[in-house]
Amino acid sequence: MAMFWEFFTFEIRFRIKSVSTYVYFLVWFAFSFLSVASESFGPVGNSNGKVLLNGPYANSYNDLGSCLFGVIIIAAIFGTSILRDFQRDTYQILFTKPVSKFAYLGGRWAGSFVTTVFAFSGMLFGTFLGTFAPWADHARIGANHPSWYIQPFLSIIVVQIFFMGSLFFTVAGLTRKIFVVYLQGVALFMLYIIGLTVFSATRSLEHFWSGILDPVGLLLFNDITRYWTVIEMNTHLLPWDFSGNSPGIFLYNRLLWTAVGLLSLGGLWTFFPMSIEALTARSQGKRAAKARLQDAEEERPIRSLVAGRLPRVRQIFGPGTSLAQYLSLTRLRIHTITHEIPFWAIVGLLIVFAANNGHFAGHAGGADVWPVTYLMLQAVEGSATLFFFIVATLYAAELIWRERDNHFDGIHDALPMSETTDWISKFTAIVLVEAVLLAVTMLVGIVMQTIAGYYRYELLQYLKELYIVTLPQIVAFTFFALFIQTMVSNKFVGHGIVIGVFVLQPILFSFGWENTLYLPGATPPYTYSDMNGYGHFVPALFWSIAYWVSIFAFLGLVSIAYTRRGSDDSLGARTRLAWRRAPRLVPAATLLLLSAAGSGFWYFYNAHILNEYLTARDRRRIRAGYERDFKQYELLPQPKVTAVDAAVNIYPERRSFDGTGRFTLQNKSAAPITQVHVTDEQQSVSNVQFDRRFHLVSRAPRDLYSIYALDRPLDPGEVLTLTFSVGHTTRGFRDGNEPAEFAYNGTFFDAGYFPQIGYDQGFEIDDPRRRREEKLGPLEEMAPRGEPAHSRINLFSPNSDWITWHTVVSTSGEQVAIAPGYLQRAWQQDGRRFYEYSMGATHIANFYSYLSARYTTRKEAYSGPYGPVNLEVYYDPAHIYDIEDMLASSRAGLDYFQAHYSPFQFTQYRIMEFPRYRSFAQSFPNTVPYSEGIGFIGRMLHNDDVDLTYFVTAHELGHQWWGHQLIGAQVQGSNMMSETLAQYSAYMVMQQKYGKDYMRTLLS
Ligand SMILES: [Zn+2]
Repeated sequence: MAMFWEFFTFEIRFRIKSVSTYVYFLVWFAFSFLSVASESFGPVGNSNGKVLLNGPYANSYNDLGSCLFGVIIIAAIFGTSILRDFQRDTYQILFTKPVSKFAYLGGRWAGSFVTTVFAFSGMLFGTFLGTFAPWADHARIGANHPSWYIQPFLSIIVVQIFFMGSLFFTVAGLTRKIFVVYLQGVALFMLYIIGLTVFSATRSLEHFWSGILDPVGLLLFNDITRYWTVIEMNTHLLPWDFSGNSPGIFLYNRLLWTAVGLLSLGGLWTFFPMSIEALTARSQGKRAAKARLQDAEEERPIRSLVAGRLPRVRQIFGPGTSLAQYLSLTRLRIHTITHEIPFWAIVGLLIVFAANNGHFAGHAGGADVWPVTYLMLQAVEGSATLFFFIVATLYAAELIWRERDNHFDGIHDALPMSETTDWISKFTAIVLVEAVLLAVTMLVGIVMQTIAGYYRYELLQYLKELYIVTLPQIVAFTFFALFIQTMVSNKFVGHGIVIGVFVLQPILFSFGWENTLYLPGATPPYTYSDMNGYGHFVPALFWSIAYWVSIFAFLGLVSIAYTRRGSDDSLGARTRLAWRRAPRLVPAATLLLLSAAGSGFWYFYNAHILNEYLTARDRRRIRAGYERDFKQYELLPQPKVTAVDAAVNIYPERRSFDGTGRFTLQNKSAAPITQVHVTDEQQSVSNVQFDRRFHLVSRAPRDLYSIYALDRPLDPGEVLTLTFSVGHTTRGFRDGNEPAEFAYNGTFFDAGYFPQIGYDQGFEIDDPRRRREEKLGPLEEMAPRGEPAHSRINLFSPNSDWITWHTVVSTSGEQVAIAPGYLQRAWQQDGRRFYEYSMGATHIANFYSYLSARYTTRKEAYSGPYGPVNLEVYYDPAHIYDIEDMLASSRAGLDYFQAHYSPFQFTQYRIMEFPRYRSFAQSFPNTVPYSEGIGFIGRMLHNDDVDLTYFVTAHELGHQWWGHQLIGAQVQGSNMMSETLAQYSAYMVMQQKYGKDYMRTLLS
């Protein structure tokens, strides 16, 4: 027992001195701390806003996640403890001593176990301390109950460490190869992810064995908590007893895997040989071969010891030498990186991750879609971005420190070679390796597309995304990592800083630091669209990347100047050296600083001078101010819009439009109206005129709310004409927050750009967290039915009841412009296309939109019991998959709704595709804009697949009745009459096609 204690304390002492122990602890500390302290971090924080961030559900879920991603850490600690003796060949000395098997294996195992439990206890401390962060959302943090921490930690993490750790320990003990241990960790992780994928692909409803046999517990967790309400999530721990769904599976699962852990330890106990002879036996063959080789060497003739004449050597140090040095060093460094197992572990993980995510690229929100390239890239690259940054971080440090770690620096530093050549070869090696990893990602993406049966390979898009957008960002990060590793005196401190800066970004962002120019390496968000490519996102992306690459490349130059050379590598000595090296670097440095200043200025000019720069918080403040100042006018009687006539010119190439409009307003109240109030949320309205004398009473900043007084009040029943100009001009680019309405191909904006009569309740902030932040009371509940004031207000368009509609819209080039109504006439003038639309005598909701894009059109005539209806789909030429489906759903809907509800009020029904910057479909009168992201790449793979396109099309058609024929007031229950009945209508259309059994699948 004393000897056990000896081994145990040795292991513990060794781990206490090891930096990696604290790094592991910090990883879990940071992860759990941020999960609580930053509301948008972690899976629970981002989900339902009512689940407590330190509640039992959140803690259990985070603990499970740490076990899945912590497999590598468990492998590293348990695996290395036993391998240390074999790597350093100390076992030969060790086993000459009378060491007992129990003391040796037990001591090492127990020491590793305690160390790993300590590392993972970072989860406890992080969560706990996170609850005290003053900036956290304390509405989502409950009182700290010890059992909410201890129970998940003991039953999930500690059991997992026991089981996984014992397994790794056993494999390490029996194979005595670190390679196998790492491989096992990677393989376990891979197999688990693949298992999950396969299991969820079968959509099995089996929840008993899947939970028990789950070695990590994600399925188990889902089986137990799938029907939990928010209250249960905030009070229930995973049950040890036989209560709840799938009773007892948590207990069975833990027992099963504890037993597996015990069994593996038993196996090790039985098969581990405690003798040098046995331990070395396996390598006898190899040794014999080596000995034979040595014998053969010795038989060669012995060279004379007398010095011969040395050949004359001419030393040349020109550009050619530098190039040769550079090439050979680069080759050497790539060789160093690629000949180590961790690199291949990363590549393996990358491939498995990408393949797994790539498999899911074709499954979005429970439905199957075509894995188009932007989805595939998002899947294979999006998740792998972390790998690319890990590789840059890791190898920047390895290459900078390599000579010093191997005590080779004395020789290396004395070589006749410039620091620049040496440095550039390191940089090149990393970038080349990254480029290869990106190529691997691309290959996986293409393979996964092929496996999914999608053969429209868009190589150009892959190359653009991976090598023009992503690679420069990795390059910038590599410069940064090389710089940090050069400046700091310890590799691990360097890692801490590099990772810290990376992790800090999303946190700073959520605190309102959204300025791309301040966030190291940041780029504004962008969305690729098949309709529009990278479109208008290109300039902002290009200039932000140019800006950060220039800055980080400059830091790279600084790190060349500060390169360690010689034995005195104190910062002072290196600064002196840096000044001596500086002159050579000045031209490049000047160029980079100029480039940084230039691109930074251009970015600033566009994002802050041409456009008003607003953070998310600023925009919320504007809305909160609007509510505070003008909600008092919400119920002020205002004239209602009865007719709209507008002329709109869309300039897609400039992402702009202009136009004029005329509203006919009528006083439908019982008292005279003296003031007309106009809300203008988009700052798009100007030149407001009434057809009688009036004057402006007040105007809020940004034209948000204007009050006009009529010199002669508008009597009940009397009519007033309001004319105005509308328009939106895009100037340069913004720092994110580009309005999604305007695109080079796929303009889509609605009546929100026209004057809104009166106060707009829809502009109020509805997120309760944000309302608390702005000191606003809870959002007002809907008025009860029968409440007199609200009963007279239309649910969707408070400033009107039904209107008549006429418009002329023009657009440029080859585009088609569409607005609700029947096409009266189309003509060309001055190179622009004009379209006149009118609803004729049919009254519609005050709800209209304008679209313009290059469309392919499919038209078809539907003949129903109440006359023909023209069905039309306007779509991107590449998105041919779902057009038939949309038409079929439209026909089926018209059949069903006309038979069961009432005749369709129009003679046309049109669907138009718009870019995926927004993902919804919306029902305007006989006109349905439909996002490319949800309906046009839908796909039916299995008989029980949910046909989302068919469903959404029927839902939007349903709104032509529920919302466009029958509409409620702003009182409780009205949403039932629009949204719920449209949904019901869609279900009925589905049932007509697929039958009752299918509906069960759909509704589950
Ligand atoms: Zn709807």
